Amino acid sequence: MLTTKLGIQDILPLTCSRTGTCCHGKLVLLNPWELACLAKEKKITTREFRDLYCEFGGIRLRFNGKPGWKQQQACSQYVDNVGCSVHLGRPLSCRLYPLGRQIQSKEVHYMYQGNEFPCLEGCPEVSGLPHLSVGEYLTGQLTDRFEKAQDEYLEVMENLADVAFVLLLDTGLAKSGDKKTLPLWREMGNELPEVLANRIGQEWIDCLMLPEISGDLDDPILFARKHNELLQLRAQEQFGALQTNKELHEASVLIMGVALHLARGIGADPKILAEHWIDTAKNHGAQE
Ligand code: SF4
Ligand code: SF4
Repeated sequence: MLTTKLGIQDILPLTCSRTGTCCHGKLVLLNPWELACLAKEKKITTREFRDLYCEFGGIRLRFNGKPGWKQQQACSQYVDNVGCSVHLGRPLSCRLYPLGRQIQSKEVHYMYQGNEFPCLEGCPEVSGLPHLSVGEYLTGQLTDRFEKAQDEYLEVMENLADVAFVLLLDTGLAKSGDKKTLPLWREMGNELPEVLANRIGQEWIDCLMLPEISGDLDDPILFARKHNELLQLRAQEQFGALQTNKELHEASVLIMGVALHLARGIGADPKILAEHWIDTAKNHGAQE
């Protein structure tokens, strides 16, 4: 789909009229820190929030509320005629809407989908409200910590993928002539989120989405770094002493699946990433 790229100074009809239009029929993806923030705002445990209101192990908010705009179902957190029940803990994609955010060559870009400014369809009244620059809108939405969390979880994802590379390339598995691992990385990149979540299994899904970290929610960078340590420790414990090529192959597939599931939760495209990682592995001697 066509996207309109924006500079931070670009002026748009961006004062939100708070009608809740965009709380219907949308895809709201979550990283583990955002999931914890939502649970805190709802005053329940992260596990309870995940099980009650999320899909695919916690990487997506459930939209099973009363149908509203265009007969699309409301977000599970939307209260009719009131608005978002977790407003202070809402995730980055809700804060950014109608904008999207992309990182290309380490540079951050903002954009919106299509030629026409998306709010104009459901909330035409925004034309008459104060226009803001992209930068002013982001400041007003307090996106800063949420953007930092997103960037930090990109690192966590890379580190998980690195474990899959080590298991394939540094253990002798690739050198043994293995041709089964890369096709499975590709298969997982194309898999539906529920199928991938199922493949990963409950234990790793819980490690990914329900880390046992207390007291650090105010600092998303610290939270994500502690989470990274927990995941790496867990991988070391589970995969550190593997012997056979079959075990190494299964471990490489499993941890790559975890990286791809997290990728989806932070808004990356698992299919593109899987292809990129397959090419990298092939450049280092792996085969398919
Ligand atoms: S569509 Fe735009 S103006 Fe309307 S509620 Fe959503 S962000 Fe606000
Ligand atoms: S979390 Fe809140 S702001 Fe985001 S879609 Fe749900 S109800 Fe709307």
